[in-house]
Amino acid sequence: MRVTTPDRLVVVTDTPGALLGPAEIRDLAGRLGVRPTKTLGQNFVVDGGTVRKIVRSAGVVPGERVVEIGPGLGSLTLGLLDAGASVVAVEIDPVLARALPGTVAAHLPRVVGTDLFTVVTADALDVDELPGAAPTALVANLPYNVSVPVLLTFLERFPSLERVLVMVQAEVADRLAAPPGSRTYGVPSAKVAWYASARRTSTVSRSVFWPVPNVDSALVRLERRDLPETTATREQVFAVVDAAFGQRRKMLRSALGSLAGSPDRAERALHAAGVDPHARGEQLPVEAFARIAEELAAGAPTDVGPGTVGT
Ligand code: SAM
Repeated sequence: MRVTTPDRLVVVTDTPGALLGPAEIRDLAGRLGVRPTKTLGQNFVVDGGTVRKIVRSAGVVPGERVVEIGPGLGSLTLGLLDAGASVVAVEIDPVLARALPGTVAAHLPRVVGTDLFTVVTADALDVDELPGAAPTALVANLPYNVSVPVLLTFLERFPSLERVLVMVQAEVADRLAAPPGSRTYGVPSAKVAWYASARRTSTVSRSVFWPVPNVDSALVRLERRDLPETTATREQVFAVVDAAFGQRRKMLRSALGSLAGSPDRAERALHAAGVDPHARGEQLPVEAFARIAEELAAGAPTDVGPGTVGT
């Protein structure tokens, strides 16, 4: 099928239904002059089965407002729209962002002239508001180099997000979903746990991407939950997490020494928080980091600054 879109881009489809097929993806990229870059984590999904699996795992329901980060050539965007979602997509690459409405129009003509699809051309890390209804789900094949900061930024800035389903590097998926005490538990695990429970659902072979990356990927599903009950701010808690894992091999007493002002002050705060000063950060759930942050804030002056959303 050949379709001329409003942008006068001729789209050649090789897959029945709404989704993009491998030949069409290459064809589209060729016409747009897109050469996928590593810097922007541009590995496009060329397998319709994977797109369907992501949409299914995300539990998207018709009429739901979904935010997608990094829509690329539109593989997942079409899957989400086809499932009945309305989509706001944030894409940093202006060439890809400009082409998306044409691709959507060619595959899902019913979307044309509606507000079911909007593309925002921006770095997702800079986005603090989105057009249209507040999204309840984030579904994305995230750019690998910024996957954790993007995830944390959106959880922080968009409290309307109840669910997240993201595809990330398998190793990052392990970290996001790791429980305290496990080998992979670290800063991303503890920070994501501030907002949500995380579960790694399935592994995705590198062969579903073009170009093929040199690592496998995995899906992670997050369900937002109530924030831990604490008088400490997120910034204070995240500063404790950063300090605890900044010196991973050290006991908390010394790892938190400079944040607390001295190892002795750190030890007092740890005792008051009910945490063994000789423990290590990898053993603590986020609630314990929150108790430590509370005690540090209540006690000696600290250099707990504004902190960062990302890792
Ligand atoms: N969703 C598409 C798919 O599954 O085929 C593309 C996924 S590709 C792994 C990541 C996409 O994120 C690319 O389109 C890239 O240009 C975009 N991207 C990279 N960094 C970004 C950022 N900071 N903000 C928004 N989009 C970004």
